[in-house]
Amino acid sequence: MPALSMSCVNILPALLNLRAYNNNEKLPFPDHPIKFSTIRPLPKDKKPRLKVGDEVKIYWKQRTTPKNSWFCGGCGKISEVATTTNRKIGFVICSERPSLYAVFAVFPKLITTVKITKVDIIEMWMGNGEPLITGNTLRETKKIARIDGFRHHLQFMKFFIDNYNLKEPKKFVRYYWG
Ligand SMILES: [Zn+2]
Repeated sequence: MPALSMSCVNILPALLNLRAYNNNEKLPFPDHPIKFSTIRPLPKDKKPRLKVGDEVKIYWKQRTTPKNSWFCGGCGKISEVATTTNRKIGFVICSERPSLYAVFAVFPKLITTVKITKVDIIEMWMGNGEPLITGNTLRETKKIARIDGFRHHLQFMKFFIDNYNLKEPKKFVRYYWG
């Protein structure tokens, strides 16, 4: 089964909401969106590697961490406690958020499995000084950002500006499973 790996901490609450949503559990972050899509760079002359109907495993940091890792729901880093005891259910105090409200559930590397329902190709660039998805209004971009699991579209834009060169129009493929 093909896999998609996620690692952006901004979308972690939405990803954990997806996990809960698919498992009929209570949403751990009820005020966050649920992640129903992912946007990946599409190299020139390449076709999307996934198609409608494909079942895909969604991982957290699939390639960069040991196989049996468990992670902190607050920061997405490996939780040594949960990993060494291989606990299925557990909570950790997040070291990144030292406060009374820093207790988070741990989660495994394999978040869930989804079925792709839509594949579209989008283009992003920083035309007019404002980064937007070509052919989409700001309102539509906000919606796409939210479906992608970002709480705020400015976070979404910052992520793509920081990680890709958008001075030239750049193509991306958007896989959707909502
Ligand atoms: Zn943490």
